[in-house]
Amino acid sequence: VKDQRIAGITSAIRVIPDFPKPGILFQDITTLLLDVKAFKDAIDLFVERYKGKNITVVAGIEARGFIFGPPIALAIGAKFVPLRKPRKLPGPVISEEYSLEYGTDKIEMHIGAVHEGERVLIIDDLIATGGTLCAAIKLLERVGAEVVECACVIELPELKGKDKLGCKPLFVLVSSD
Ligand code: AMP
Repeated sequence: VKDQRIAGITSAIRVIPDFPKPGILFQDITTLLLDVKAFKDAIDLFVERYKGKNITVVAGIEARGFIFGPPIALAIGAKFVPLRKPRKLPGPVISEEYSLEYGTDKIEMHIGAVHEGERVLIIDDLIATGGTLCAAIKLLERVGAEVVECACVIELPELKGKDKLGCKPLFVLVSSD
């Protein structure tokens, strides 16, 4: 059964065509943040799923994973670890490169932020091709952490990003097709 709260969350997300370039349907979660009930419902749905699962780390992907990750981390008693774009983190980092439509990108994590054996939830606002989440999984597994699940507010199912995550489970609130 679909949670009633999902309808409110879905309608609070604004869709903007041709941003940042022609042909892209941009899913804008800033309007979800303006809707006090829908934003809280989204956080609550994640917290209900992950509370009591012994998750010690919520890893959020820059930039919009930094909006949803911290309230979830606080509510489930986990620490929050930012996974950032290159040259943003000031301390020693490990980094993971991944390919984009044109060229490559990288995400980085502070060494020592996550320890071997820790149970991690990775969070971002949206999964498109899955390339970003896939790189995040690799980064965390390289330090010996266990990625329990990836969670996003929105999935674009046509891009089949889920397939790129291998056997890692993906939890999404809204599928946009
Ligand atoms: P991907 O690595 O292809 O799964 O892309 C996911 C990342 O790109 C996420 O951090 C999203 O915030 C961003 N992104 C990709 N496509 C969109 C879209 N249509 N609307 C909003 N954000 C997007």
